[in-house]
Amino acid sequence: MITLASRLDTVAPSASVVMTQRSRELAASGAKVIALTQGQPDFPTPPHAIEAANRAALEGQTKYPPLAGTAPIKEAIRRKFNRENGLDYELDEILVGNGGKQILYNAMMATLNPGDEVIIPRPFWISYADMARLGGATPVPVDCPQSNGFKLRPEELEAAITPRTRWVVLNFPNNPTGAACTWAEMRAIADVVLRHPQVMVLSDDMYEHLLYDGFEFCTIAQVEPALRDRVLTVNGVSKTYAMTGWRVGYCGGPRALIKGMTNMQGQSTGGASSIGQAAAVAALDGPQDFLKERAESFRVRRNLVVEMLNEARGVTCHKPEGAFYVFPDISGCIGRTTPGGRRITTDAEFAMALLEEAHVGTVYGAAYGMSPHVRISYAIKPDDLREGCARIQEFCQGLR
Ligand code: PLP
Repeated sequence: MITLASRLDTVAPSASVVMTQRSRELAASGAKVIALTQGQPDFPTPPHAIEAANRAALEGQTKYPPLAGTAPIKEAIRRKFNRENGLDYELDEILVGNGGKQILYNAMMATLNPGDEVIIPRPFWISYADMARLGGATPVPVDCPQSNGFKLRPEELEAAITPRTRWVVLNFPNNPTGAACTWAEMRAIADVVLRHPQVMVLSDDMYEHLLYDGFEFCTIAQVEPALRDRVLTVNGVSKTYAMTGWRVGYCGGPRALIKGMTNMQGQSTGGASSIGQAAAVAALDGPQDFLKERAESFRVRRNLVVEMLNEARGVTCHKPEGAFYVFPDISGCIGRTTPGGRRITTDAEFAMALLEEAHVGTVYGAAYGMSPHVRISYAIKPDDLREGCARIQEFCQGLR
């Protein structure tokens, strides 16, 4: 008999995996499913990154890499933080892991004790809460509703901080809402954190380059240098360079924290793939102009999806500043019945009915801690996106 550890009792199965699985079953039975679920760019990895990986493999970079990252990638990351964020991290203040996800996991596991609290703006990428719980801590959500553009209000952050607060997680541009933070907004958040010396900040900047209409990115350690020793700045190549499968993420932060996280990594994975790291060096040091073109393509798609969703009955969709997600409110659809005869009482039921009756895949808001919403990724071909939104309009129109 297999007995699983009780710590797994607190880890929810991923909603996007559930929705993707059901989409696959429908597709296998012949339905043309439009998946607005994907959390990755639909662009290819840049060829210069692929070539660098190929070269690295042929040249024999196939042995265990140094635990915290190869020398070339740490230098490339140092240059990146300097160039793009005005942050200067020494090489031993940088850690490379298997994606941003492992970096975040290392950070929580290296610092949390039972009874600690982790403040997470809600809605949130679910892994933050699950990782906090795996570390024995309690996630403390702070609501960032659509009525406030899904932004974190400093006074609400202040009210959530207690002597047990270990981390505040910041993720702007945000998954699932696309909301981003101006310099002034980040300044106000930094002012709150400055008043609480026990609090560290986990700044998840994965969507840094996915910002539209001239919105400028900033990260908290850059906005308030006095917080540098309490901030972990996390990033990766997945979303920026369309390299989700290469599994390379990285961070810069205080030396003692990086040391603890490196120990954690040493007992879990032994570091990121040497080939993936070589590809990431080429991406970080290579041409960056195509990022603007890609962002422009996402901007056009964001405008399309926001406009079409706002025409759907019972749906209101905020126009966010970045990422490739929107998180529309579907309250006007709750309490109604689908053409197939199902009564919709939750966003999970809405998402499942939309998938099964209109063949459009989304992820329900409850999976991100805020209902009734759905998360829609617009990182798919514009024609499919238009078709998906038209089906949502038709589905909502058909609700009685
Ligand atoms: N942070 C956020 C907010 C994300 O949405 C994701 C991926 O979906 C990650 C971190 C992890 O990215 P990766 O592990 O691919 O670097």
